[in-house]
Amino acid sequence: MADIYEALVKIVGKDYISNQKEERYFYARDGGLMPPHEPDYVVMPKTTEEVQQIVNMANKEKVPLVPKGAGLALTGLVIPQKSGILLDMKRMDKILEVNEKARYVVVEGGTTHGALKSYLQKHHPDLRHSIPDSPPIATVVANAVIHGQGRLSQQHGFNSDMVSGLEVVLPTGEICRIGSCSVSSYWFSKGPPLPDLSGLFLGWFGTTGIITKLGLKLYPCKKMRDVMLFLTDRAELVPDIMLRLSHTEMMEDITISAQPMPLRFKGTFWIMAYITGDSEEELEFKRKMTWDALWGCFERRDGGFISLSPDMKAPLMSMPSKDVTKFADVAKGGGFQYAGPITPIEKFPAFIKKLDEVAAKYNVFYASTTRLIDAGHCMMFSFSFSFNRANPDEMARAKKALDEASRFALEEGGVLWKADLDEQKLLMERMDPNTLNLMKKIKQLLDPNGIMNPGNWEVK
Ligand SMILES: Cc1cc2nc3c(=O)[nH]c(=O)nc-3n(C[C@H](O)[C@H](O)[C@H](O)COP(=O)(O)OP(=O)(O)OC[C@H]3O[C@@H](n4cnc5c(N)ncnc54)[C@H](O)[C@@H]3O)c2cc1C
Repeated sequence: MADIYEALVKIVGKDYISNQKEERYFYARDGGLMPPHEPDYVVMPKTTEEVQQIVNMANKEKVPLVPKGAGLALTGLVIPQKSGILLDMKRMDKILEVNEKARYVVVEGGTTHGALKSYLQKHHPDLRHSIPDSPPIATVVANAVIHGQGRLSQQHGFNSDMVSGLEVVLPTGEICRIGSCSVSSYWFSKGPPLPDLSGLFLGWFGTTGIITKLGLKLYPCKKMRDVMLFLTDRAELVPDIMLRLSHTEMMEDITISAQPMPLRFKGTFWIMAYITGDSEEELEFKRKMTWDALWGCFERRDGGFISLSPDMKAPLMSMPSKDVTKFADVAKGGGFQYAGPITPIEKFPAFIKKLDEVAAKYNVFYASTTRLIDAGHCMMFSFSFSFNRANPDEMARAKKALDEASRFALEEGGVLWKADLDEQKLLMERMDPNTLNLMKKIKQLLDPNGIMNPGNWEVK
């Protein structure tokens, strides 16, 4: 063990490694419900070469290695289940290149969404990226690794669909470029026209390699944004409302919120349609298209648009959404976790009913945000529960509620997103055996010593 510590000091310098109990305590847990487990070392590399040297050493000594962004996935994906080295990517935070004409950015493996947003606003105000509603310290790479979704997902799909290239340190130490950047100096595509190898790393929770650079597609940033709020109390109409809004092809983002508190919100669904424009005329045209799309619902008294005061509008317009972050901290002693199955949008009424049911059964506080993905091809529906970390009984009830919601979502044909260890097992139990075997072969090929984030996607 002393040798490993010394070897790590040589690679990153003594200021960027710790085996002290304070750091090990902190890095043993996340904000969710999975039980903690301590790493032996916490290391903060600065360069791809340092990452490579750490991986080489870990592979030789067969020491587990877990890459961590901000640890906000909340499902225990950065909890080092088998101890070893926790690799905090925070210091790899450079924004390396913006290509304005090919509309992409290349960032290092620990760059945060907040930093990228500020950088683009300052230096490239005509360009933007898809910002998730997680706190701004969430990292761009980890969000793509877990197939996150953000403010442009209704138009452009999962945030991982917007990746345009990768640099990865493989578990055996080779540095590998994926996409157009493997043959060209441009990072415009993660796959086409080549075989798309990005799928060997995206969705794998850091079990197949450490991403040290990532290309991300950027999109036009219009001068103005607005949000329109449609309210209905009829869950069964929500899928059709989402489709009608999406059909206009006018919205950057469509989300639906539901929560029981304050009581006046209970049983109502807040459908938020976000539009952008370069002029007031463009915005007005899009507002009209939005009204027209839902006019029939309004005439039948199935719902209506709510006029928003500037105070109400401000939190809805903020990116990331301040409302979501506040919910995460709503219970005293703040803890928060959500199951976020990806499902066809027709499941909205059944999922809302189930959310109400499990929250009542386990007596936990809930909220839900749904985000339409890729023009309605699917949605992310969150079963979100907040709890008090100082109350083990409440945490146990929240975990039971989440487990029941996840099982229900699977039975209904959903696929669990950023699955925790229990959910990964559920997914693998259901998976086509040949697909599972293919995953096993890929994992064995890339990570023959099983050092990368062990415990996760562990195919027996
Ligand atoms: C209030 C709140 C709101 C949220 N809203 C959203 C939302 O709107 N959309 C959304 O998508 N998510 C949302 N999330 C979930 C989550 O916070 C985000 O997806 C976030 O982007 C995850 O990034 P992270 O840096 O925290 O990842 P981490 O939790 O640190 O890591 C996630 C996974 O990526 C792996 N990983 C990390 N870095 C690397 C690397 N360099 N190479 C390989 N693997 C790596 C880790 O091992 C882990 O398996 C929300 C969370 C909270 C708390």
